[in-house]
Amino acid sequence: MNQAPPTLGNQYDDDRVLRSHLARVLPAGVLRDIEESLAEMGRLAGGELYELQLADRLNEPKLTQWDAWGNRIDKIEVTPLWRLAERIAAEHGVVATAYEQKHGSLSRVHQCALAYLFTPSTDIYSCPLAMTDGAARTLLNSGNQVLIDRAVPHLITRDPNEFWTAGQWMTELTGGSDVGLSETIAKAERDSTTFRLYGRKWFTSAIASQIALTLARPEGNPSGGRGLALFYLETRDEHGRPRNIQINRLKDKLGTRKVPTAELTLDGTPAQLVKGPTDGVRNIAPLLNITRLWNGISAVSLMRRGVALSSDYASKRVAFGAPLSEKPLHRDTLATLEAEAEAAFHLAFYVAELTGQSETSEIPENDARLLRILTPVMKLTTGKQAVMVASEVLETFGGAGYVEDTGLPVLLRDSQVLPIWEGTTNVLALDTLRALHGTETGLVTIESAVTRCLENVRDPRLADAARIARTALDHAASWLKEAERRGSPALEAGARRFSLTLGRTMELVLLIKHAQWSQDHEDDARATAAARRFSRSGVDLIVDDDF
Ligand SMILES: Cc1cc2nc3c(=O)[nH]c(=O)nc-3n(C[C@H](O)[C@H](O)[C@H](O)COP(=O)(O)OP(=O)(O)OC[C@H]3O[C@@H](n4cnc5c(N)ncnc54)[C@H](O)[C@@H]3O)c2cc1C
Repeated sequence: MNQAPPTLGNQYDDDRVLRSHLARVLPAGVLRDIEESLAEMGRLAGGELYELQLADRLNEPKLTQWDAWGNRIDKIEVTPLWRLAERIAAEHGVVATAYEQKHGSLSRVHQCALAYLFTPSTDIYSCPLAMTDGAARTLLNSGNQVLIDRAVPHLITRDPNEFWTAGQWMTELTGGSDVGLSETIAKAERDSTTFRLYGRKWFTSAIASQIALTLARPEGNPSGGRGLALFYLETRDEHGRPRNIQINRLKDKLGTRKVPTAELTLDGTPAQLVKGPTDGVRNIAPLLNITRLWNGISAVSLMRRGVALSSDYASKRVAFGAPLSEKPLHRDTLATLEAEAEAAFHLAFYVAELTGQSETSEIPENDARLLRILTPVMKLTTGKQAVMVASEVLETFGGAGYVEDTGLPVLLRDSQVLPIWEGTTNVLALDTLRALHGTETGLVTIESAVTRCLENVRDPRLADAARIARTALDHAASWLKEAERRGSPALEAGARRFSLTLGRTMELVLLIKHAQWSQDHEDDARATAAARRFSRSGVDLIVDDDF
């Protein structure tokens, strides 16, 4: 008796959570208009791309530093899956959709749905796309017309021959979290618009990209974050040679092994200021907001993939006389993972919706503040959930989950990066405290978001879950007040538990809101069951004796 491998169908058609969510947040005409693009991406993700992903498993990017004649070339070759992924991403507008604005602010939701379907079958090709999207947004926000005209059309095109991707080079040996310590120096050329960069970048992903946004300190600037400036550079000249950039080596990583992540030396790399000679950390913030959104979308998409594979397998694998899907404990295990993934989905897509509004200036001040708070909260919460869900998914396959050529272990390895890059859990927890600006303004914003989510909830089956959410939020508010009274060490020490509690509370209320809608409009109680289950899976993580 052989084991039947898990299989995937059309990943859009099969995704109740995505379809139901889009039916709620999009007007019927918009949904009709975009549905074909989603069904096509769902077909590719469950078919051609998934098959190539399994076949491409052992391929990795290659760095060739020298040619046969002794010239330093530092050529990067990515794998066949990544080459196809790049073409499909461009043609299907996985970045472009957000900028074409066919449906105003809702274009961001459409784009995130495409990214969500695309990501789990393309081995973190989402990484260069996230940075490309972030670079486009940052350049557009900068008002630097020369750079906008030069690069943005390439970043948001649907023509694969014209498509450029972007890197984001921040982390140095001195620190990824504390980028103010960066040592890269920018020396002004005579014309003073061009600079030459000298330094080492310690983690630079998607190094095959055509451009990068990076931080460096113009000579004479003060130390610390304010003294850094944001620079734009093109990685290669018209002959394909690196522009005074040496790729010292590719990192040998736990996961994201298809992503070429390099250590670089910049030795006089030409670069242009994006926006002024200081405040680089502030000026790169639009890029980070977009890559953090992508991180959350990737987290929920990998959770969804794990759950889809595991559910399919459970219907085929027989143990003790019945398929696993009929064993009460296995069903309970899967339902818990599904609830976790479903709750996370609603928070990530809510941030997508708010991001879309912020990009089209439709956003009320209150929601802009909410977006500022929820971006780090969503990123840190979903990143942790993705690792937990992936680990449990592997266990649901028994030994097969631990065996490489099933294609399953990569889910766990790739998920593990999500809490690390784009700001670690701790760093984002501290950022959440900054975003809140104290209890008065910040928590009021969250409280009113929670109230809005719960205001139309009538089903008594959801009452307990709603009460759990409100109690968790009250606890967070009282903890914050007491921690602020005690001062900085107490606040910092509890920041992670506090931020995760905010994240899980928001996930729960968004899921409750959706559950009521789904009952009213689809006569479906599955989201209600998920909300009830999630509410009992640990929403309030704060401990009071940490003072
Ligand atoms: C696969 C991969 C690809 C990457 N690609 C890129 C890239 O393309 N571009 C780029 O710029 N970077 C990239 N990075 C780097 C990544 O962003 C950093 O690793 C990350 O920001 C953490 O920085 P660090 O490694 O210097 O760790 P550190 O900053 O030294 O942090 C170490 C630990 O200390 C904790 N910590 C730090 N400060 C505090 C504090 N104040 N309070 C409490 N805890 C704290 C952190 O949470 C972490 O757990 C990549 C990393 C990986 C793993």
